[in-house]
Amino acid sequence: MKLLEGKRAAIFGVANDRSIAWAISEAFHAEGAELAFTYAGEILEKRVRPLAEGIGSKIILPCDVTKDEEVEKVFATLKQKWGGLDILVHAIAFANKEDLSNPYAQTSRAGFHLAMDVSAYSLVALAQRAAPLMEERNGSIVTLTYMGSEKVIPNYNVMGVAKAALEASVRYLAHDLGPKGIRVNAISAGPLRTLAAAGISDFKSMLHHVAERAPLKRNIGAEEVGKTALYLCSDWGSAVTGEVVHVDAGYNIMGM
Ligand code: NAD
Repeated sequence: MKLLEGKRAAIFGVANDRSIAWAISEAFHAEGAELAFTYAGEILEKRVRPLAEGIGSKIILPCDVTKDEEVEKVFATLKQKWGGLDILVHAIAFANKEDLSNPYAQTSRAGFHLAMDVSAYSLVALAQRAAPLMEERNGSIVTLTYMGSEKVIPNYNVMGVAKAALEASVRYLAHDLGPKGIRVNAISAGPLRTLAAAGISDFKSMLHHVAERAPLKRNIGAEEVGKTALYLCSDWGSAVTGEVVHVDAGYNIMGM
């Protein structure tokens, strides 16, 4: 029997076939899960729909996480079509380009709010609506973070602060939802060339730095994040909750 046979997963955060959420989707699909997808806006629908349909997905919905009505609609549809939900993948982040290149000290109030809303609060917005659908099903929620939450990474700026809030949210959500058997974890991935990464100034030097300094002396592949998500969202991770699991070739352990 496949690891996720009979499981139903809602995936938030596919923009294209380089998205980390897509690598996770491929891993879940290979292990038998049925998947629902959301996309943020019409332009991305053109990319997401063919990918989703290509792996047999029948639920593909718009969802800008800053709009409560769109979030509500997604969970109402999941309830109506599936009756319940086993897995939620949150792979969403956004900050204004200038806030990922100017000094952090220059972050505007509006830029700070936007990054926090899209990149941190959205996990809470999704989790609070997913939870009622996950009861009695050993639900699992997984989000994506980066070590810019723990240490200063030049140019990561307000996103590092948002990721710190996201990781704290993982722990508080794990505490709140644990009694219902729902687990909440984060994967702290090493740098990967994606659409979101293209917004970070001098991203190339992050890749070089990791390949040079990480214990494994290389960068990671998106499929390696997919495999870890599979562990966290399947029975293999049944006692793991509130964790931030690093999938970064070991880079985060280095002091010098
Ligand atoms: P990506 O651009 O493929 O995915 C980011 C997603 O966020 C996109 O699908 C985009 O549509 C979505 N998004 C942005 N604003 C949104 C909104 N208002 N409503 C709904 N969706 C919205 O890039 P990715 O690198 O796959 O990013 C996925 C997650 O992984 C992010 O949380 C990112 O911070 C995290 N991450 C990325 C890296 C990396 O190096 N690429 C490393 C660690 C963590």
